[in-house]
Amino acid sequence: MPARTVADFAASGLPVSLSCSACGRVQVPPPDVLDAAFGPDFDLVAHHREVSRRLCCAACGEPRPAVLLDAAAVAEPVADPARRRA
Ligand SMILES: [Zn+2]
Repeated sequence: MPARTVADFAASGLPVSLSCSACGRVQVPPPDVLDAAFGPDFDLVAHHREVSRRLCCAACGEPRPAVLLDAAAVAEPVADPARRRA
């Protein structure tokens, strides 16, 4: 079963990445941070826009970083130009 919730991602070790459009950094918040902010049963796949709204870039403070979920965990794989080129 594909990972959907905070607890699913934590249990399977799948990264939840935040990509900042302002400084270009990609960060992976620790599962306990996501757990504290949203709770273990929060559906990251269905509500990734909510995640984006509530978090900001830890490096530069820019709000609404893009949320990148591991491609294996979502129905529609996140575009990844580097991998497509290979
Ligand atoms: Zn940033």
